[in-house]
Amino acid sequence: MRQIERIQELMGRLKLVRTSVELPGLLEEASKKELAYSDLLEELFTRETAAKSERHTAMRTVLARFPFHKSLESFDFTQQPSLDPKLIKELSTCRFIANAENVLFLGPPGVGKTHLAVALGLAACAQGYRTAFVTASSLIATLLKAQNEGRLEERLKLLTQPRLLIIDEIGYLPIDRISANLFFQLVSRRYERGAVLITSNQSLSGWGEVFGDRLIATAILDRLLHHSTIVNIKGDSYRLKEKRRAGLFGRAETRAPQDGPAPPEVAVG
Ligand code: ADP
Ligand code: MG
Repeated sequence: MRQIERIQELMGRLKLVRTSVELPGLLEEASKKELAYSDLLEELFTRETAAKSERHTAMRTVLARFPFHKSLESFDFTQQPSLDPKLIKELSTCRFIANAENVLFLGPPGVGKTHLAVALGLAACAQGYRTAFVTASSLIATLLKAQNEGRLEERLKLLTQPRLLIIDEIGYLPIDRISANLFFQLVSRRYERGAVLITSNQSLSGWGEVFGDRLIATAILDRLLHHSTIVNIKGDSYRLKEKRRAGLFGRAETRAPQDGPAPPEVAVG
């Protein structure tokens, strides 16, 4: 066996997968450029570390179960003047996750709430944070099922593990009292322990109705808002705007009823 094959076999055992494949090229380049041994080693370990972190990011991204993959780069801020790009950029540093703080994206349908939530979730995965994406309705179904099977505690523990939990679409479906209580338990568990990112088509003043109980909605909001960034997104649905641009129909017909004026901003202390 040639020496290079012996080295590659040893690298394989050490799971240095990427650099084992790249070794022949690396060695050739090193001798051409007359690299110092230390430079060759540094190059090799740098590449292997980068490959490992790419693999881990990919794994976290799969486990997060995003509905689609869209990044901040593909978000057109000029289409959304109510949004401060600086604020979103600050959120994408993921400092809020490190500090176990919350983020709420509020606004009518189609303004990019889920897109932004996914983009921040992908940034979180790239920065090494375990992330989970759920819709509010699937989350509640999961909690109810766990409770019926006597495994609520177990499920709440699992839902407390990701450093970022994204809960999409609060407010589309009304939540009954039992479910609201389960949701409250989850929010309490994560309070000051793990970041929660929520999207909602309802203004916060509408949450009493969503949760069917003003008291429980207040208790939920009390914990969610204590350390939080609220982002109110206004304007027309991007989907409808695109259709309009494509000339599919005239302006008057495109205003879906939910697409009307944005919900009033809620003052948060
Ligand atoms: P919401 O969750 O607020 O209902 P989405 O995030 O699902 O809206 O956005 C609807 C569609 O429009 C998605 O395909 C999204 O990628 C796209 N979109 C919305 N706003 C923008 C934007 N400002 N730039 C690029 N794409 C956008
Ligand atoms: Mg959405």
